[in-house]
Amino acid sequence: STTPRRSLIIANWKLNGGIDLMCNSIASLVGKEFDTDIAVCPPYIYIRDMLSLLHHSEVKIGSQNVSKFESGAYTGETSAEMLKKVGCSLCLIGHSERRQMFRENNISCNIKVKNALTHGLIPVLCIGENLEEKDAGITKDIIFRQLDEGLNAIDTTTGELCVAYEPIWAIGTGKSAVPDEAQSVHKFIRECITEKFGNDFAQRTRILYGGSVSRENACELLDKADIDGLLVGGASLDPAHFLQICTQC
Ligand code: PGA
Repeated sequence: STTPRRSLIIANWKLNGGIDLMCNSIASLVGKEFDTDIAVCPPYIYIRDMLSLLHHSEVKIGSQNVSKFESGAYTGETSAEMLKKVGCSLCLIGHSERRQMFRENNISCNIKVKNALTHGLIPVLCIGENLEEKDAGITKDIIFRQLDEGLNAIDTTTGELCVAYEPIWAIGTGKSAVPDEAQSVHKFIRECITEKFGNDFAQRTRILYGGSVSRENACELLDKADIDGLLVGGASLDPAHFLQICTQC
């Protein structure tokens, strides 16, 4: 992207990896300088070790989810405050896998976005249409609603927001959106944010693309005016591949 926004490339390991992936990806990322911001979202259990192993590195750590609750009798949950205090920089919110399999919706995402902002974590709100919605030509309606509800009444005076556009039909399928097609949705996302929160905030918000990103398509995607970063799933499980995505463009 040719804008003043610094690109952000995030690895989303999902429920994959272990000590080996952790050690190998740290070995491949430490001591390097990047022209973009880089973050890794491992499973919760690896966050603390990764933070200490990455201590003097520019690489940031994020979580793949965050609780909508602050504290209390919520077995299995991890709060925004805990994530921030341990050293996380960002958290993914509303990934389509969580929407599809764990009953996440725009309302719960909204609470999570607010929690993240309150505690100084960057929320990365994930949105995107499924194949049926794309074929029905209602992508923009879906996106509008996900943003309108997911970002309802957030405080835009402090902190930073990221949005990740991840068309569900492109996730894990090897069928990335065509860069021009992604750019037109990203432009629409920025228009929605402008309408809701004003131009300054919209220009500051980084909009990432996710869905079958690889070293083959990363540069062409990042080249688009409104594509400010990438959310990388499968390709981030190969440390050498992820490093190439982070350094080649
Ligand atoms: P993918 O996943 O790169 O494997 O398509 C992206 C994501 O779900 O964040």
